[in-house]
Amino acid sequence: MSIHPDVAHDPYAESIDPSVHCNTCEAVCCRLTVYILAGDVVPSWLTVHDEHGMEQMERSDDGWCVALDRNTMRCTIYEARPGVCRKFAMGGPYCRDERDTWFGKPGGGIAITVVADHG
Ligand code: SF4
Ligand code: SF4
Repeated sequence: MSIHPDVAHDPYAESIDPSVHCNTCEAVCCRLTVYILAGDVVPSWLTVHDEHGMEQMERSDDGWCVALDRNTMRCTIYEARPGVCRKFAMGGPYCRDERDTWFGKPGGGIAITVVADHG
C-alpha cells in the first residue's frame, strides 16, 4: 500500500475506510449542524442564526440541510458548500459513526418518503 506524502503521518487520514462511499449513503452528514465560518460564501437565504448569533446551514423539518436536493441526495451548492462540509471526510471516523448511528437505529434508512400525487 502506498500513502500520499500529504497524509503520510496523518492518523485521521490514515483511518479512512475506502469501502465507504456517499453513493451508498443517505447524506446523513447533511443532517448535522454546519456552522458558517469566515471565508464561506453560502447564500444567506440558506442559513439561519442560532440563539448565540452563530450562522449555520438551515435544516428543514425532515432534518436535512435545505441545500440538499431531496431527489438526488446531493448538495445543490457543492462548489460553494461551507468549509465544514469540505472537511468532512468520506469514510472517516465521524462519517462512519454517523452512518452507524443512522443505519443502526430503528427506522433508519427509510426517513425519506416519496408520496405520489395522483391528483
Ligand atoms: S460523507 Fe459519509 S455520512 Fe456523508 S454522505 Fe458521504 S458516506 Fe454519508
Ligand atoms: S451545504 Fe451541502 S454538503 Fe453541506 S450539509 Fe448542506 S447539503 Fe450537505
